[in-house]
Amino acid sequence: MAHDAPSLPALQAQTRLLHAGKSPAYAGGAAVNPPLVRASTVLFESTAQQREMRDRRGGERIFSYGARGTPTGFALEDAVSELEGAYRTRLLPTGLAAIAMVMLSYLRPGDHVLLTDSAYQPVRHMARQFFEPYGIAYSFFAADGSDAEAGMRPQTRMLYAECPGSLVYEMCDLPALAAMAHGRGALVVADNTWGSGCQYRPLALGADVSVMAATKYLAGHSDVMMGTVATTEAAWAPLAARCDALGMAVSPDDAWLVLRGMRSLAARLDMHEQHGLEIARWLQRHPAVATVFHPALPGHPGHALWRRDCRGSNGLVSLELAPGTPQAGVDRFIDSLRLFGIGASWGGYESLVTQAFMDQARSVTDWSARGPVVRLHIGLESPRDLIADLEQGLATLDLPD
Ligand SMILES: *Cc1c(COP(=O)(O)O)cnc(C)c1O
Repeated sequence: MAHDAPSLPALQAQTRLLHAGKSPAYAGGAAVNPPLVRASTVLFESTAQQREMRDRRGGERIFSYGARGTPTGFALEDAVSELEGAYRTRLLPTGLAAIAMVMLSYLRPGDHVLLTDSAYQPVRHMARQFFEPYGIAYSFFAADGSDAEAGMRPQTRMLYAECPGSLVYEMCDLPALAAMAHGRGALVVADNTWGSGCQYRPLALGADVSVMAATKYLAGHSDVMMGTVATTEAAWAPLAARCDALGMAVSPDDAWLVLRGMRSLAARLDMHEQHGLEIARWLQRHPAVATVFHPALPGHPGHALWRRDCRGSNGLVSLELAPGTPQAGVDRFIDSLRLFGIGASWGGYESLVTQAFMDQARSVTDWSARGPVVRLHIGLESPRDLIADLEQGLATLDLPD
């Protein structure tokens, strides 16, 4: 039976209810944005067509079942592939799930993976929770990549980078690391959430796989979770096969929201970048601030690489308070801010603040002698208002604890 309304006479009301409203009830043109297509079952014209689609879906992107993706998700995949300069893209329910899927797709028991010390912190938890029991060995390399070659083992199958790094934005020389890793038969994966495809493009710099938490700048409004994995043509097959085998799919509603967010991505990033830089420079002049971490500042250790490899920056700025600042002082500073929400994640339109516990977030670099680090996400508010808020917040550090 074809899926358009059957021409049988005198259908029962119960049946008519199921067949009503299946074709658009309007005349005219098409909407600007792709339609939101929600589906589990996909209907075919005939058994022959169903068989043909099943045969083709291994290699081609075919709308054959909700878990294999929907037209709305496919539209987002194409937009991300465009942004990342990728062959193709898969969507996962969160950024962390996207990282996990990369590990599941390319690593097997007995392999070793070399992880950057600057990785998004839950990747360390993933390594303990998942790599250890599954017989995958791992170790960390310094965030600037200086000891990566020494860390390679005969079993190293993957070098996992994040550039700029989480929390303090260390830079590594990705093209050099990729050449080194490829020479030893290892795949190169990069977490590109910071660059969001606009400011940094790992696939053009030699990575095989680029992961993004679309939860952050792509979505841009703090209201949806999504991860993306974009690959070169050569790296594509294991990812696609594993995602299909394990039933990985995202909600088309979420895909639609992310695609909508992406339309203003470049414009928002420009503004986050301008505001972030203005505040970074102001913080540098404040006596309560020991260090400002921002790769576009000339004093940042990765500044030269940032200039070479990045097109710009974003709204992330971290600051180190004076070593010895008591926790009560850090709490008072953060709690006193009125325009900065206290919360994890970032990439929405609004400003956020959270403490970064660097001694837990790094194992190669020793942070024990340094002051407390606070991460700001600078949103689209007026920087003048944000500076006034930070000014009164930093003034609370002078109060006795
Ligand atoms: C937030 C983040 C992730 C994880 O994304 P979720 O969607 O929150 O799971 C991964 N990598 C980096 C660098 C992130 O900042």
